[in-house]
Amino acid sequence: MAEDGINSFMNSPDEQGRFGIFGGRFVSETLMPLILDLQARYDHAKTDPEFWAEMHDLWTHYVGRPSPLYHAARLTEHLGGAKIYLKRDELNHTGAHKINNVLGQIILARRMGKTRIIAETGAGQHGVATATVCAKFGLKCVVYMGAHDVERQAPNVFRMRLLGAEVVPVTSGRGTLKDAMNDALRDWVTHVRDTFYCIGTVAGPHPYPAMVRDFQSIIGKEVRTQLAEQEGEGRLPDTLVAAIGGGSNAMGLFHPFLDDPSVRIIGVEAGGKGVDETMQHCASLTGGRPGVLHGNRTYLLQDEDGQILEGFSISAGLDYPGIGPEHAWLHDTGRAQYVSITDNEALEAFQLCCALEGIIPALEPSHALAHVMKIAPDLPKDHIIVMNMCGRGDKDIFTVAKHLGFDMKI
Ligand SMILES: *Cc1c(COP(=O)(O)O)cnc(C)c1O
Repeated sequence: MAEDGINSFMNSPDEQGRFGIFGGRFVSETLMPLILDLQARYDHAKTDPEFWAEMHDLWTHYVGRPSPLYHAARLTEHLGGAKIYLKRDELNHTGAHKINNVLGQIILARRMGKTRIIAETGAGQHGVATATVCAKFGLKCVVYMGAHDVERQAPNVFRMRLLGAEVVPVTSGRGTLKDAMNDALRDWVTHVRDTFYCIGTVAGPHPYPAMVRDFQSIIGKEVRTQLAEQEGEGRLPDTLVAAIGGGSNAMGLFHPFLDDPSVRIIGVEAGGKGVDETMQHCASLTGGRPGVLHGNRTYLLQDEDGQILEGFSISAGLDYPGIGPEHAWLHDTGRAQYVSITDNEALEAFQLCCALEGIIPALEPSHALAHVMKIAPDLPKDHIIVMNMCGRGDKDIFTVAKHLGFDMKI
């Protein structure tokens, strides 16, 4: 680590929210006071034991944490190399890791006296998690969702409405996640007093990337304890692997290990139909360039004029055209490695996981698993890989059925 002049990866970002040249807060003058207020309140909350006591109580009794760390014995045997553990975050209430973060932001919102929660959503997973926690606390919830996504993700739109949320279809731009986030930011500026903006990944202006990471870090902290219990005191994983949309589940797994140089860290982006000039993918690090979007500087999918391009992936949860700024920094410093996996490779991993482990994974972590399948066979048997199983696949069975040519109407 010393060769980059970096003493601790875990102590970042700096006061302005910069991870090296990435991150920061590129926001309008009207938004700045809200951002500074949020930062002050979060800085206070994160050192308050009562705040974390409330989080842990809900993580335990509402979400179902700690999620198990599971030795995937048949998968390990099948691949014939490294010992594979799955962190079972797909067992959380609402079926993914999103709720870890939503709880943190909404407990903070309540402490700030906010009564109206807004959120952006793409595939609808973050919208559902936000609507869930708002219902639990009796808070008004408004979810911005691209009009195109509203059509594609009807079951999640219905879930949000059942949970009492108002879903606002966004028609600006291309009517997808990027545009929904822009509209949510606009809403926030016009409802200053009562509204809290709950962002779904490690993106947005400072303090969001660091705050969301802190809430998701429960994943990696649990892995540290659980692996020591199962493999012996002090045993660290050798390799960590996680799928990346915006990068929150990955940051949650990675962060507690950033200052352990023996731990190799790999983020897996969605390669769609392949990372080439046709841009049918959403691998921001492998196929993008630095720029500014949604209040921070990071790697983005963009054309030659700097216009943001739409991501493409079989997995709706991975098609954010950017990536959290901390990942951009970990990439450029070399602390973490980033690879991409195609739709077809992810589909193969999806089926293997069903057949060998009796776990139907979401398509997002199927990307991570596909990379594990590539590297595990060549690693020794005492090499430990921990992969984040960040979501369950119930939501994806229709997509998979279509790709496998299975007629659901029979
Ligand atoms: C939303 C989602 C993702 C992508 O978000 P990150 O912020 O990159 O974690 C990945 N997997 C699942 C299951 C999701 O719901």
